Amino acid sequence: MTSRYSTDIVIFGGGIAGLWLLNRLQSDGFHAILFETRALGSGQTLASQGIIHGGLKYALSGSVSGAANVIADMPQRWRQCLSGSGELDLRDVAVLSDQYYMWSDGSLRSKLKTFLGSKSLVGRVEALDQNNYPTFFQDNSVDGTLYQLPDFVVDTPSLLQKLRDPVQSRIFQIDDGAYQFKKDEVSSNYRIELSKNETEIEFSANKIIFCAGEGNAELIEQASIKTISAQVRPLHMVYLKKPNLPQLFVHCIGDDFSLTPKLTVTSHTDLQGQTVWYLGGDLAEQGVSKSKADQIEAAQQLVKKLFPWIDISATEWNSFLINRAEANINNNYRPDDAYVATEGNIILAWPTKLTLTPSLADKVINALQSDSVTPAGDSESLQVLSEFRVEPDLANAYWD
Ligand SMILES: Cc1cc2nc3c(=O)[nH]c(=O)nc-3n(C[C@H](O)[C@H](O)[C@H](O)COP(=O)(O)OP(=O)(O)OC[C@H]3O[C@@H](n4cnc5c(N)ncnc54)[C@H](O)[C@@H]3O)c2cc1C
Repeated sequence: MTSRYSTDIVIFGGGIAGLWLLNRLQSDGFHAILFETRALGSGQTLASQGIIHGGLKYALSGSVSGAANVIADMPQRWRQCLSGSGELDLRDVAVLSDQYYMWSDGSLRSKLKTFLGSKSLVGRVEALDQNNYPTFFQDNSVDGTLYQLPDFVVDTPSLLQKLRDPVQSRIFQIDDGAYQFKKDEVSSNYRIELSKNETEIEFSANKIIFCAGEGNAELIEQASIKTISAQVRPLHMVYLKKPNLPQLFVHCIGDDFSLTPKLTVTSHTDLQGQTVWYLGGDLAEQGVSKSKADQIEAAQQLVKKLFPWIDISATEWNSFLINRAEANINNNYRPDDAYVATEGNIILAWPTKLTLTPSLADKVINALQSDSVTPAGDSESLQVLSEFRVEPDLANAYWD
């Protein structure tokens, strides 16, 4: 039997983008529901290093564009949410480090020095006096310069949980391929046909938002979207763990003044209470074609070279491949802001970065306003969806 159901907004994808939007739309009075095919956060969000950053990396590339200014505002927006005075209440989300550092080992090219002293970065990047170095860098043999950035690091599992809890009753598990998009040729709007076991539901919504990360490619194909395509950028991430490893949060910049730090380190804690160093940056970008053994070997060499004072014996190492998913806006060019496009009543959304999720939500709200979408509510009780009631779990961190 086919039931019918209509609501204001249907969201596909339960990573940071979908969960943030679900909360934000609900607080704006909309009725929205979210469909997830796997565990919440299981794509990029739990793979991310959780750095909420002010865009120094864009500035390093020399582009202090409008987008760089958008990202510069993000740490403050997140801090407001974390203190309970922002657009979402993120109090109780664990902050792994309130500070983030950039370290240039040894010879610092004058170009970088001049750049860091430039007007656009005044007040954003501060060279630290050695007396104020965090414990990790206080070893006498440490050379180079340490900078403090406006960035900080959030614990993504606790972030996902905080965003899921208030909207849990509106999140549903669907199977891959259990949905179809039907386009009305007159209005160009889409509706969704969803099936599970013997139940079929025909959904209509004022807007359907695709924010399924890498899964957007499949959704775009299913709905035959022409406006925009998706792209992925692979990374080969490494982590190491052992008890009593010191906490470390740093970008290590080489002398070559490259856009990507040669190593980006964040620290986490696994379920056994061991410290995990999670390694990204140039190591992850350059290691995509390497085998696991070769990538771990490369990471070990780099860690030994950069931090010779740290004992990494008896350490467990691992690596995994993961794709960054973005809009393909200009022939594989890396987007530097959140991206939203519309086709019919579908909104295609990529935050580009965890950091930029508030900007993504602004863009979605703007798209709703420019189409004069106002809250209308659900046509039926959520009971109609009871077959899909299975709530997706929160995914585990990669090192658990
Ligand atoms: C290794 C790595 C490190 C990163 N570090 C940082 C960082 O430190 N700071 C930062 O700002 N950004 C970082 N990023 C980028 C950031 O993680 C992403 O931009 C962000 O998490 C994207 O969130 P999302 O919700 O769009 O996608 P995802 O987190 O990928 O979530 C998509 C969700 O959609 C679900 N899904 C897939 N297909 C379907 C479907 N058909 N129907 C329903 N659901 C579906 C998936 O199961 C998943 O739960 C990093 C990314 C990577 C890969």
